[in-house]
Amino acid sequence: MTTQSTSVLVVNSGSSSIKYQLVDPVGGEAIAWGIVERIGEEVGSLKHVTQTSTTERELPVPDHGEGLRRVLSLFEAVGPDLSRANVIAVGHRVVQGGPVFDGPVLVDALVEHQIEQLSPLAPLHNPANLTGIRVGRALLPDVPHVAVFDTAFFHHLPAAAASYAIDRDVAEKHSVRRYGAHGTSHQYVSHEVAAFLGRDVEQTSTIVLHLGNGASASAVKNGHAVDTSMGLTPLEGLVMGTRSGDIDPAVTFHLMRNAGMDVDEVDDLLNRRSGLKGMTGQNDLREVHRLVEEGDAGAKVAIDVYAHRIKKYIGGYTAVLGGVDVIAFTAGVGENDDIVRARACEGLERLGIEIDLERNAGRKKEPTIISTDSSPTTVVVFPTNEELAIARLAVDVVTGGRP
Ligand code: AMP
Repeated sequence: MTTQSTSVLVVNSGSSSIKYQLVDPVGGEAIAWGIVERIGEEVGSLKHVTQTSTTERELPVPDHGEGLRRVLSLFEAVGPDLSRANVIAVGHRVVQGGPVFDGPVLVDALVEHQIEQLSPLAPLHNPANLTGIRVGRALLPDVPHVAVFDTAFFHHLPAAAASYAIDRDVAEKHSVRRYGAHGTSHQYVSHEVAAFLGRDVEQTSTIVLHLGNGASASAVKNGHAVDTSMGLTPLEGLVMGTRSGDIDPAVTFHLMRNAGMDVDEVDDLLNRRSGLKGMTGQNDLREVHRLVEEGDAGAKVAIDVYAHRIKKYIGGYTAVLGGVDVIAFTAGVGENDDIVRARACEGLERLGIEIDLERNAGRKKEPTIISTDSSPTTVVVFPTNEELAIARLAVDVVTGGRP
């Protein structure tokens, strides 16, 4: 056991941005965090926040290497001093671990190659994640780098939940199965909510509703995922900020045959111009509620569809689990939107799910039970913390256990 305090630098590298957070994996607090945006554009931006200061800069950031170099100079200039922070690992978020990775791994040349090979399954994300890993390893060569996969928690989904009912040879040849996403959050919330409630996770059936701009549901039995709403890609499942979620695949053929759209246009439609954004023009639920208040009938329908979809997954996963002990709402919408929480659980009393509307009211910064005392299922708002989850998984990899 290490007694000296340690930290982990968590990096989430996107196509034109790098988000980072220096985390104390034991206490759980963010020591510093920031974001580099508009990498590769004429003028980029940097924001670096410590417990005592916020530094913002506008300047050209031609590539990710330069972006991370700027971040390291900010740590040097305004702190905290990384050499004194005892950084024991850099944890990189990687979206797609495909059929290869069932947990976090120490990055080496082979792992980099495997992440690259998985890019066809996540063409927007894996190449960007890999760029972050490469520049990170080049600039911080003395610290172990760990890749933490968004799909890993769902790697061992039962075949009944993981398989699509399509030609088996096609599925195998092209790695077509349900991989899920947001796995780090689903794992963290399902395990931590059990601890919060004083329950043994290994004897608990939980539904986690991760409702952010991207949204997904999972069914977790005795600590292991048994189903999840995202599929080959994060497009499947719940209604999201800009994604349709579940849809008849024939909509694709219909639009290609009859609306003259090509595959990239349909991809763009379903991933970036659908969901709340497609139905209302706004991807942020706060704005959609505002439209409802102004009497916008389309916005009302959008919220109806959004809540109805969540309710269907609660019902479906209650059946998959053979009864549910805990439902956890998390992420931006799950933590803040009492209307959506109430609507999603409305009328589920016969399934053993009873919300207390007073307890449910308002935004929740802390874990909060929102079900009635007599509700057989405990419903909780439980804030997720993906950075802390990544940091702890990275520590597990480099130490073989928690520090
Ligand atoms: P996330 O992806 O977890 O950061 O969640 C972002 C989304 O959370 C936003 O697009 C909003 O739709 C939603 N959100 C954030 N704050 C609130 C709020 N106070 N009320 C309703 N929705 C919120």
